[in-house]
Amino acid sequence: MLFSELSQYLNRLEKTSSRLKITEILAQLLKKTKISEIDKLCYLILGYLAPPYQGVEFSLAEKMMMRVLARAFVVDKTIILKQYKKGGDLGVVGEGLWDTARHTQKVSVLQAYERLLAIAQESGEGSQERKIVGMVNLIQGLDALSVRFVVRIPLGKLRLGFSEITLLDALSWMISGNKKHRKEIEAAYNVRADIGFIAKTIKKDGLSGLKNIKISLGTPVMPALCQRLSTPEEMIEKMCSTADDLVAVEPKYDGTRLEVHFKRGKQGNRMVKMFTRNLEDVAFMFPDVAQALSQEINAENVILDGEVIGYDQKTGHLLPFQETVKRKRKHAIREESAQIPLRYFCFDILYYNGRDLLMMPFSKRRQILRKVVPPFCLGRARTIILSPQIITNDSQVLRRYYDKQIRKGLEGVVAKKWQAPYDVGRRGFTWVKFKHAKGKKGGGLTDTIDGVVMGYYRGRGKRAGFGIGAFLLGVRKGKDGDRFLTVSKVGTGLIDKQWREMRRRCNQVRARERPKEYDVDKNLQPDIWCQPAIVVEVEADNVTRSPIHTAGLALRFPRLVRFRDDKNVGEITTVEEIKKLGEMEKVRNK
Ligand code: ATP
Repeated sequence: MLFSELSQYLNRLEKTSSRLKITEILAQLLKKTKISEIDKLCYLILGYLAPPYQGVEFSLAEKMMMRVLARAFVVDKTIILKQYKKGGDLGVVGEGLWDTARHTQKVSVLQAYERLLAIAQESGEGSQERKIVGMVNLIQGLDALSVRFVVRIPLGKLRLGFSEITLLDALSWMISGNKKHRKEIEAAYNVRADIGFIAKTIKKDGLSGLKNIKISLGTPVMPALCQRLSTPEEMIEKMCSTADDLVAVEPKYDGTRLEVHFKRGKQGNRMVKMFTRNLEDVAFMFPDVAQALSQEINAENVILDGEVIGYDQKTGHLLPFQETVKRKRKHAIREESAQIPLRYFCFDILYYNGRDLLMMPFSKRRQILRKVVPPFCLGRARTIILSPQIITNDSQVLRRYYDKQIRKGLEGVVAKKWQAPYDVGRRGFTWVKFKHAKGKKGGGLTDTIDGVVMGYYRGRGKRAGFGIGAFLLGVRKGKDGDRFLTVSKVGTGLIDKQWREMRRRCNQVRARERPKEYDVDKNLQPDIWCQPAIVVEVEADNVTRSPIHTAGLALRFPRLVRFRDDKNVGEITTVEEIKKLGEMEKVRNK
């Protein structure tokens, strides 16, 4: 396929806001695509060159792109800057300059992909200049519309308003003209979270090809997630439907979820990957955990699931999430490793010495895990620790275990069906969390809400100095939804530093107009719109009905807890979940 043809599709997608229509257009596009190009095409239309866990980055900032355009179209940089300030989109600026370009060549999707990849992979001395030259050459051969999209990709600004999830629907639609195969396609994607690979498999072997998709060491598996229930009684009732059913109950750690892939090998040959919930490889942040894997675990190769958390050596207490994430600043990792040692609490095993364990019941997986991470160790402190647990089907026992964790300063507990397989990527009732409410005077919703920052309002009074006084919070419409509805205007709970941080982040993803996936009442329009990119965790005292918020619900006394960089917008709380939280609050207060 020629890139110019792909651009026609991208143009149609950009103008479309109906999710169904987008799915249909994508299905048409995928149908026309050849086996040899479908994986690359999927990456490109999502605005990247490889699945995010491979960490391929462009390192091409806006200033550099302005230099690219100035050179490609032989115009002064000041003209480009002026046009950019006016419209806010360098892709459109490039498209507008196009008529001065000379020869348009027939660039295929594969050629454009390979050239973009080569640009991204440039490194070392002189690489900035080589990146610029590479972009100039590519752009000069393209038609005007293609320039618009190719300029946006390295800037991370393609954002056509759909995600991998919509592509899963589109793959089903490509086969049958409807979404009926979505479930089985998603099941394969959950085991092998590479949309290009899934699309290629379907194109080549049809749906039957998906049956052969197995867990692959080094490629992330979608982590299992928790449901919530209001009381231990409800948990036992729902999770233990027969007298023989049991649940394992474990402490709920407030750290960072890490799925660790490890393969032993001679120095330099071993493999360590650590995936966050949004499937980014963050192994560079945890060199001490990587080191401990070689020394402490009994396995040749393994995929472990667990939570990493800071540990205070003096008191023996676990540290709050905020302390642990200080390591995000790349340069500070060495210092932080020394100051804040970590513990990796391991609670599951998905792969062991070449064997896929996903379908094995938890009771059996745990037996293997105990061999890999022995529960007791004599003599020296360990970094990798087997999460403790109790096995029960008695709600009183569950409640007492929960109380004990709260006294220890933990968040609560997670109950897990003892005989269930690992529930990849599902928020089913295989795992259920029971958390402590942190609201005023112990009240408040039993759980926090993860929402997207849709935009912000300029402040008045003291806040005018920050240029931000409140932000608009959105949640997802429906489990698979790519649409966002408003649920709150949040103006409290942030200290000065956080307001500055919020404004900085918002300005990085600023949109010129309301993103098409947002439904917002006209009386709530923020001064500055943001692309759906920033995920925040918010706590609130209650949920009320609302005539102005498009979710139909509003949060009472919402307060920012933290930025959730480990979650992407596809994972935020849904309207239905908020409704349920409100109902749970009523049950608790009866
Ligand atoms: P929360 O906001 O409640 O921390 P979340 O929104 O990040 O949770 P949930 O699916 O609601 O995600 O809760 C599951 C999370 O709890 C897991 O992703 C994991 O990070 C954390 N967790 C802590 N301890 C455990 C445990 N023992 N077993 C499973 N998950 C645990």
